Amino acid sequence: ETVFVSGATGFIALHTVKVLIEEGYKVVGSVRSTEKGENINKLLKSDNFVYEIVPDIGQPGAFDEALQKHPEVTTFLHTASPFHFKITDPIKDLVEPAVEGTKNALKAIHKYGANVKRVVITSSYAAIMNLEKAGSPEFVSTEESWNPITLEDASKDPMRGYLGSKTFAEKAAWDFVKTEKPKFSLSVVNPVYVFGPQAFDEEVKSELNTSSEVINAITKLKENDAIPSSSGNFIDVRDVAKAHLKAFSSEETKGQRLLTSERFFTAQDILDIYHKNFPKEAAKSPKGVPGSGEKAMSAASKIDNSKTRKLLGFEFISLEKSVVDSIGQILNVQKSK
Ligand code: NDP
Repeated sequence: ETVFVSGATGFIALHTVKVLIEEGYKVVGSVRSTEKGENINKLLKSDNFVYEIVPDIGQPGAFDEALQKHPEVTTFLHTASPFHFKITDPIKDLVEPAVEGTKNALKAIHKYGANVKRVVITSSYAAIMNLEKAGSPEFVSTEESWNPITLEDASKDPMRGYLGSKTFAEKAAWDFVKTEKPKFSLSVVNPVYVFGPQAFDEEVKSELNTSSEVINAITKLKENDAIPSSSGNFIDVRDVAKAHLKAFSSEETKGQRLLTSERFFTAQDILDIYHKNFPKEAAKSPKGVPGSGEKAMSAASKIDNSKTRKLLGFEFISLEKSVVDSIGQILNVQKSK
């Protein structure tokens, strides 16, 4: 079986590719340049991985050539989507590439993916949550919930632009399936904030991908710095990779949204784990108010993903293990330099 993974260089995608190769799949990954493709080859060292260049998923026909070249593809995982806030125009820089990229992938599969039976799209909790209700403890999101964000809201700032990009892109995917009635089935993975180590130590840079940077930024704090206000829900990247495999390999996940979330976190929780497990390295970091993270949780909206937990059938990695493995890798790489 051959699995196509778009955006193979990404934090989540590289873990997914790594697991796919370990499980014996052949993988075709799309990357934006030869240099990025060669870098993956160097890391994976596997004859079962090949790359194709797709410089911009948002350009019409972006995936046509890559799929025409690989009629052997049976599964398509669409993970590529802009996830960063260093942009000028939320619609042009986030919403358009996300939505057009998703449509371009589905159109190419429909037209050229003669053997594709399963498609998985990496959407997000961003497509499920409701920003207005984030501070309402009685509000519960599930696999059936949709972010009510409008295009106008999405144009207001980079954060709303990202929420809109994921919401509109996922909607476009379900609409495509409804109107085109393709012969593949669609499944979607909706992760909350994804933490955990990079798939390879070589991928640890001074600044990391958006979600990993939440933890990295905490390790960079100085004694008198304020504790960041970051909070949300967390899932480990290794569980997100496993969820992508389950999403395409099980009958029960056809047509489903998998809301992968382990638990709520605050920056204080991450700091507490840092101090407990790396006392020497954390000595010069602020302490905040240890243990006070729980209070923030009782004031936040909730997630009920019991349906997803049942469909996936495996235990999620804990926040402590995820943070320890993330910080441990960062510190090891720093020491080896
Ligand atoms: P990364 O930034 O590490 O990965 C994003 C990937 O998409 C990269 O390979 C990037 O390529 C590619 N990409 C972005 N824009 C384009 C474009 N216009 N054309 C071609 N390729 C593009 O982030 P993650 O691994 O975290 O994100 C992967 C997916 O998971 C995204 O869809 C994201 O929305 C989703 N997600 C992530 C969460 C998280 O907390 N990490 C939570 C929920 C969902 P390059 O690096 O070369 O620019």
